Amino acid sequence: MPFILPDLPFDRQALGTHMSAETLEFHHGKHHRAYIDKTNEMAAEKGLAGASLIEVIRRAHEGGDESLFNNSAQAWNHSFFWQCLAPPDGQRPTGKLAELIDDRFGSSEEMLDALKKEATGHFASGWAWLVLDRDKLEIVSLHDADTPVVRDAMKPLLTLDVWEHAYYVDYRNDRGAYADGVLGNIVNWEFVARNLDGQGAGRADQEG
Ligand code: MN
Repeated sequence: MPFILPDLPFDRQALGTHMSAETLEFHHGKHHRAYIDKTNEMAAEKGLAGASLIEVIRRAHEGGDESLFNNSAQAWNHSFFWQCLAPPDGQRPTGKLAELIDDRFGSSEEMLDALKKEATGHFASGWAWLVLDRDKLEIVSLHDADTPVVRDAMKPLLTLDVWEHAYYVDYRNDRGAYADGVLGNIVNWEFVARNLDGQGAGRADQEG
């Protein structure tokens, strides 16, 4: 069965001015859809129909198939990203997640500052990540479509898309304002906390 474009886990209007319906219409409805469609096309051509999305990403990575890797990794990255978002409701990290963040970074604010710095400092397109490396929280950025799915030491917790298509409609060229708007208001911290079990990658996977 071909991969499908997963529905957004919230209404298109629900993120308000932090991420507009217009951005979501293009980013989810067109960009993400295109990555899914191209992955389906290429996976079928290469005899990978039936493999899960993560299997396709790993096979493409191992085989040096850049085009299939880029499209399938972007299909997964975006499926993970949407789950990291939730309507603004004053949410903050709590419980075990908040404790780990405080131990590693001092406070949630300092962690978010570090993640923003990683996001704004990343040259051109990519993704800023909060990951678990064994039992330690780390902030990293990966270029273009690159993804924690092919890194053993990176269990994904939270990501921020820093491709221009993620922010240009709402924030023009101001990537810092976009990072502040998203990280300060519309992160689904419950999803991030659930990923402390190390199973985050599977939450954006699909059966083939
Ligand atoms: Mn994107």
